[in-house]
Amino acid sequence: MSKSYDLVVIGAGPGGEVGAIRAAQLGLKVALVEKNIHLGGTCLNVGCIPTKSLLESAKIWAKLGHVAELGFRIGKPEYDWSAIMKRKDGIVDAQRKGLLFLMKKNKIDVYQGHGRFLDKNTIEVTAADGKKESIQTKHTLLATGSRVKELPFARSNQKNILTSDTILFIDHVPKSLAVVGGGVVGMEFASLFGRFGCEVTVIELLPQVLPSEDPECANEVVRQLKKQNVTIETGVKLTGVKDQGDHCVVSVEGKPDRVFAKVLMSIGREPVTDDLGLQKVGIAVDRGFINVDAHYKTSAANIFAIGDILKTAALAHTASAEAMHAVEVIAGKNPPLINYEANPSAIYTYPEVASIGMSEPKLKEKNIAYKVAKFPFAPMAKAKIEEATEGFIKILSHPQYGELLGVHIVGARATELIGEFVLGKILETTVDEIGHAIHPHPTISETIMEAAHAAMGGAIHM
Ligand SMILES: Cc1cc2nc3c(=O)[nH]c(=O)nc-3n(C[C@H](O)[C@H](O)[C@H](O)COP(=O)(O)OP(=O)(O)OC[C@H]3O[C@@H](n4cnc5c(N)ncnc54)[C@H](O)[C@@H]3O)c2cc1C
Repeated sequence: MSKSYDLVVIGAGPGGEVGAIRAAQLGLKVALVEKNIHLGGTCLNVGCIPTKSLLESAKIWAKLGHVAELGFRIGKPEYDWSAIMKRKDGIVDAQRKGLLFLMKKNKIDVYQGHGRFLDKNTIEVTAADGKKESIQTKHTLLATGSRVKELPFARSNQKNILTSDTILFIDHVPKSLAVVGGGVVGMEFASLFGRFGCEVTVIELLPQVLPSEDPECANEVVRQLKKQNVTIETGVKLTGVKDQGDHCVVSVEGKPDRVFAKVLMSIGREPVTDDLGLQKVGIAVDRGFINVDAHYKTSAANIFAIGDILKTAALAHTASAEAMHAVEVIAGKNPPLINYEANPSAIYTYPEVASIGMSEPKLKEKNIAYKVAKFPFAPMAKAKIEEATEGFIKILSHPQYGELLGVHIVGARATELIGEFVLGKILETTVDEIGHAIHPHPTISETIMEAAHAAMGGAIHM
C-alpha cells in the first residue's frame, strides 16, 4: 500500500524545503522528493552559498593587500586556494546537515529520486538505481528550479569551458578567464576571480551589464571592477568558443580571436519542467515556465508551483516567499499577496548592488513622475572606518507624497542595507518617515537616513 500525504513537494531547493517545513508546521503530513543526493537545490549546492563563501575569501584577500594602512605588518600575504575551497565545502556541508535535521524535526518524509506525476494525486519517485515507488497526495508543490542554459555553439565541457556549476570546483585560480554573460552570476564570478589576480574579460551582448539594475549602479560596478583586473565589453556578440586542451579560443563578432585559460559560460538559466509528467495532469508550460495565479495555483486545482520555474525573479528568497504563501493557502490560511515591488535584488560583486522597486528607465517607460535623491557613502565616518566609502544610495520617490518607488544601492553593505527599504515599502512608508527615524551613530545605515534627508530637501553631511 503506497503512503499518502496532504502535500508532496517536488524539489528541495530554497523553495521546496521552506514550503515543506512551513506546511509541516501548519499540521500537514508532508513528503519531500529530491533527485539530487543532497537537499538545498541550486542555492545551497552550486549557487548562493558556495559563491558567497568564495566572495568573502576574495574580500579578505583584497583587504590583506593593504593592511599596512590599517597599522599591521604581516609580511607578504599568500593564499591557499585548496583551503579556501575546503572552507566553502565545509559551509555547504554544514547547511546540508542542518536541512536534514530540520526535515527530521518537522517529521517530513524525504524521498530521494526523480518525482513525476502519474495522475493528479499520484507521484512516482524513481531512485538512482531505477527502483520506482508511488506515493499518494492531496496537494503537490512543484519546486523543481532551474539549470544552466547552454549555447549550442559554445557548450561547456567540464574542462576549460565551464559553467557556474563546474567553476565552483576549479582547483586553481586561472591566469585568465572570459566570462560570457554579464548578468548577476557572471559578474559575481568576475569580481571573485578578478580580486584573486586572474585577468577577467566579461563579454556581454546587451549595452549594460547587470541589465535589470539601475544604470548608475551598474556603471559604478563597472568602474570598481576595472580596479579588480576586470575588463568589461558590452554590445559584443559571441560567435564561438573552442577548447584547445591547454587554453580556449574565444571568437566574437568584429574582433580578432582571443586566447583565455578558461571560459565561464553564464548566459542564464532555464526552468526544469520537462520530465514531470505535466501533460498527465493538464498543466501546460510556456517556454518551460509554469503559469500560476496570485496564490501560485496552476491550472490543476490541487497543484501549486513556485520559484525558478515561474517567470518571477529567479532568486532564492523569492522562491522561499512564494512557497510559504502557497502552502499557507493549501493549509486554509489567507496570507497577504507577495508585493514584488518590495522583492529585493541582491548582487554580491564588490561593491555589492541591491534594489527594490523600479529603476529610473522603468519609471520613465511607465511615465511615472519621480524625484531622485542620492547620498554617497564617502562622507560617513563609519564608511571610512570600514574602508567602504565607494558607492551610494539612490532613492526614487513620489514627488508629492514621498512614497518609495525604487531604491538602488551600490556599496559594500548594499545587500544588508536594502532590508530596511523592503520593510519600508511593505509598510508604505515615506522618505519623510525614514528621514525622521533615528539611525544609530556611527553606522553605515546612517547613509539611509541621509539619502532620505536628501529626498526631503537637504542632506545634512554634504
Ligand atoms: C551561481 C549562482 C549564485 C546564486 N546566488 C544567489 C544569491 O546570492 N541569492 C539569491 O537569492 N539567489 C541566488 N541564486 C539563484 C538561486 O539559487 C535560485 O533562484 C534558487 O535556488 C531557486 O530556488 P528553487 O527552490 O526554485 O529551485 P532550485 O534551488 O533550483 O532547486 C530545485 C531542486 O529541485 C530538484 N528537482 C528538479 N526536478 C526534480 C524532480 N523531477 N524530482 C525531484 N527533484 C527534482 C533539483 O535537483 C533541485 O535540488 C544563484 C544562482 C546561481 C546559479
